[in-house]
Amino acid sequence: MESNDNSEFDLLVVSLRRHLQRRQRAGLGLLPKAEQRTAEPTINGANELLRDREVELFAEPAQGSGAATLEELRAAIGDCRLCKLCSGRTNLVFGVGNPRARLMFVGEGPGRDEDRQGEPFVGRAGQLLTDIITKGMGLKREDVYIANVVKCRPPDNRNPEPDEVATCEPFLKKQIDLIRPEIIVGLGKFAVQTLLQSKVPISKLRGNWHRYLGIKLMPTFHPAYLLRNPADKKLVWEDIKKVIKELQGENA
Ligand code: URA
Repeated sequence: MESNDNSEFDLLVVSLRRHLQRRQRAGLGLLPKAEQRTAEPTINGANELLRDREVELFAEPAQGSGAATLEELRAAIGDCRLCKLCSGRTNLVFGVGNPRARLMFVGEGPGRDEDRQGEPFVGRAGQLLTDIITKGMGLKREDVYIANVVKCRPPDNRNPEPDEVATCEPFLKKQIDLIRPEIIVGLGKFAVQTLLQSKVPISKLRGNWHRYLGIKLMPTFHPAYLLRNPADKKLVWEDIKKVIKELQGENA
C-alpha cells in the first residue's frame, strides 16, 4: 500500500473504532467483547488523524432528528446516556409548555428542584420567571414553552461543559424546530452566549434583538441573577416590554 493509502486506512480504523465506542457508551451495543478489551487504538497520532474529520466519516443522524412531534423527540431521547451528566441526574428535564408557543424561554440547565421534579424553572428562580410570564406579560406558563440548553443537572450547579453542550444542543435545536416560536428569550449569560456562540457579556447582549436559527432572540438576565441583584429587575422589564411589543406588533 502507498503511504497515503496507509494513513487513509488508519483514519478509517481509528474513526470506526471510536464510533463503535461511542455507540457502546450510549448503550447501543455493537462492539464485540474482544474489541471492548482492546478498544484504545494503537495507531500513532490517532487524534491528529481524526481532527475535524470524524464527523464526516461516520456521522449518524442525531438521536431524535427524525421526530415529528415533541412527544416523539422525548421518546427518542429516552433514558439518554450520551454525556456524563446522565450519571448524576434524577430526572431528565426535557421542557414544558405549549408545543405551538409563539414565545419560548431558554435557560441554562436544571437545578436541584428541576432535577427532582423533571420540570424546568420550578425552584426560586423559576417562581420569578413564572411571575415575569404571568404578572409581567399577562400570559400563563402553559402558553409559552420553557427549556434549557442542557437537559440534565450539572453536579453542584456548575456550568455545563463544552462536550455536554455539544451533545445536548441538538435536542434543543430540534425542540425549537418543532415549536417554531416567533421569539426566544435567552435567560442569562450561559444560555445566551451558548446560543449566539459569543463571549460578549450578557450586560451588553441583553435588550437587543439577535437571531438564533433564524428566530428573533431577546437576551436578558437570568432570574437567578435577579434574585441576587433585584435592582436589575427594571432592565429585564425593559427587555420583556420589547418582547411584548414584538408579539403584539405581529398581531396587529
Ligand atoms: N436555571 C436554569 O437555567 N434552568 C432551570 O430550569 C432552572 C434554573
